[in-house]
Amino acid sequence: MIKSEDLWTTIVHDVDNFEKDNDKRVAQIQINEQYRREFLGNVSHELKTPIFNIQGYIDTLRESDPDDKELSKHFLNKAAENVERLNNIVHDLIQITQYETGELRLELVHFNITETIQEIYEEVKVKAAQKKIRLQFKDGCDKIHMVKADRIKITEVLQNLILNAINYGNIGSSVSIGLYTMEKKLLVEVSDDGPGIHADHLARLFERFYRVDKHRTRSTGGTGLGLSIVKHILEAHGEQVGVRSSEGKGSTFWFTLKRPN
Ligand code: ADP
Repeated sequence: MIKSEDLWTTIVHDVDNFEKDNDKRVAQIQINEQYRREFLGNVSHELKTPIFNIQGYIDTLRESDPDDKELSKHFLNKAAENVERLNNIVHDLIQITQYETGELRLELVHFNITETIQEIYEEVKVKAAQKKIRLQFKDGCDKIHMVKADRIKITEVLQNLILNAINYGNIGSSVSIGLYTMEKKLLVEVSDDGPGIHADHLARLFERFYRVDKHRTRSTGGTGLGLSIVKHILEAHGEQVGVRSSEGKGSTFWFTLKRPN
C-alpha cells in the first residue's frame, strides 16, 4: 500500500519535473524564434543591396540614350554582376538552411587530397594572377595523401578557404597549402600573408553573416556565409576547424580529416 505522504511526494516531484521540462521547451522556442527573426533580418538585408543596385542600373538605362552602346553595355554589365551576386547569396542560403536543419548527407569515399588541391589551384589561377598572388604548395603537397571524407564537400571547403585567401589577400602576396600527417588524421592548412584578422574577430569568424569589414567584404562579392558553411561541413564529418591570424601578417585556416586505416 502506498502511503498518502509518499503519493504526495511523488505528485510534487512529477509536477516539478513537468514545470522544468516546460520551462526548457519555452526557452528553446524563444531561442528558435530569436534565431528565425535574426536570420530573416540578415537575409532581407543581404538581398536588398543587389536588388537596389539592379533597380538603379535599369532606371539609368531607361533614362539614357539607347543609341549609346558603350553606356548601355556598361550598365548592363553592372546589372549582370549584381544578378550573379544575388545568385550566390541564394545558393549559399539554400546550403546553410540544409546544413542547419541537419539535411546534410555525406558520401564518404577515399580520395587523394593533393590531387583535389591541384585541381582547385588550376581553377582559381586566373583570379590569383589578376592580383599577382602566388599559389604555393608547401609541406607535404608533393606526396599522395589519402583521406576518407565527402570529396565534393571537402572540395567546397578548400575552394572557400583558398578563394577567401585570394579575395582578401594583398596584391603580390601569396597563398600556400600545407599537409601534415598525424596519427589518424591529416591536418590541412591554408595560409596567406594578407592583411590578417584582429584577435577581437576570431571567435565570431565562423558565424553566419559575420564579416570583419562589412563595406570591404561586400565589395569583394562575399556573402558572409562561406566560413559558416565550411564549419558545418567539417562538423558533420566530426572534424575540427580553426584559424590563427595576426593583423598585418596573415592568416592560417586549418582543419583535420580522417586518414583511412
Ligand atoms: P565572405 O563571404 O564575406 O567572404 P566568409 O564567411 O567566407 O564570408 O568570411 C567571413 C569574413 O572573414 C570575411 O568577410 C572577411 O572579413 C574575413 N576573412 C575570411 N578569410 C579571410 C582571410 N584569408 N584574410 C582576411 N580576412 C578573411
